[in-house]
Amino acid sequence: MVAEYVTGIKAAWDVAKALKVATDAIDDAHLKLQMAELISALADAKIEAAESTEKIALLQKQINTKNTLEFDGAKYMRTKEDGSTDGPFCPTCYDSEAKEIRLQSTPNSSFGSWFCRVCKGRYN
Ligand SMILES: [Zn+2]
Repeated sequence: MVAEYVTGIKAAWDVAKALKVATDAIDDAHLKLQMAELISALADAKIEAAESTEKIALLQKQINTKNTLEFDGAKYMRTKEDGSTDGPFCPTCYDSEAKEIRLQSTPNSSFGSWFCRVCKGRYN
């Protein structure tokens, strides 16, 4: 689904490049301008497609983890298919950037029982 339009844009890009080479020999300012606009529009589409693909992958990951991560009031835990639990994961990193960062146990700290090495958050 995603890869198909990326492949389509790449194919159009290749055709446009070949067309540009073929039309470069033709001394027509209007044609050269239109070719430049076509190449520019396709370059924008390629960038947009790459960004969309990344965003879709991130959203798919979020959908998948939303189904399995549970918020216990302070941090996220995952219940695996076999019933065992995994985690805890940092709520700040997950809520802001959808990153599953494991919290480090700090049982002797007076600031909290769990510490995130990425955002430096402390949780109980
Ligand atoms: Zn964090």
